[in-house]
Amino acid sequence: MFTEPIIRDQQSGWIEVICGPMFSGKTEELIRRLKRARIADLKVMTFKPSLDARYHTENIVSHDAHIIESRSVTQADEILSLAGEAEVVGIDEVQFFDGAILDVCNQLASKGARVIVAGLDMDYKRKPFGLMPELMATAEYITKLHAICIKCGNTASFTYRKSSFSDQFMLGEKEAYEARCRSCYEKERSTLTIE
Ligand code: ADP
Ligand code: MG
Ligand code: ZN
Repeated sequence: MFTEPIIRDQQSGWIEVICGPMFSGKTEELIRRLKRARIADLKVMTFKPSLDARYHTENIVSHDAHIIESRSVTQADEILSLAGEAEVVGIDEVQFFDGAILDVCNQLASKGARVIVAGLDMDYKRKPFGLMPELMATAEYITKLHAICIKCGNTASFTYRKSSFSDQFMLGEKEAYEARCRSCYEKERSTLTIE
């Protein structure tokens, strides 16, 4: 369980990354941290990429129906102007943002904001997703979460795509994706079109 090292720091901000496969609880954990920041009376703003409208076009909603209001943005640098005086900035599905997201997070943190981002560390082919490697290397704190493997019940680090559609971006839920451990992922890998 992640406990905030500091709740209020007037001097400087920092970056926290929450990562893991689908269904590992990234969104739940992001919402938990943001709600605690609100309890501490901090100004909180939350963002997500507009292309993720699975449960709601504005709010962030977890698979388990935890919910927090957010702004949908199409480009990373919109976050800089919209964040204003926010003391805590949350970003969900951060892997979908363009290359400017790293600089945006660093600028916010350098201005004094606590920046908490959640995203998939790997795509369904187990390749690092978007700017996640850079964000993880730059962040002061990283939390890697695990789901439960749908096949065997062990801890799952990978997201398995059930169809053979091969674009990296394909929105979906349980009908399209499964959390799998390494050995269950590899058992059926050969049946899919993986480079
Ligand atoms: P993420 O943002 O990482 O995709 P969420 O925070 O939206 O995950 O949802 C996590 C919730 O999903 C869990 O608390 C649990 O209720 C549910 N869930 C569904 N399938 C699984 C699974 N295979 N492993 C773990 N949790 C699962
Ligand atoms: Mg999520
Ligand atoms: Zn398994």
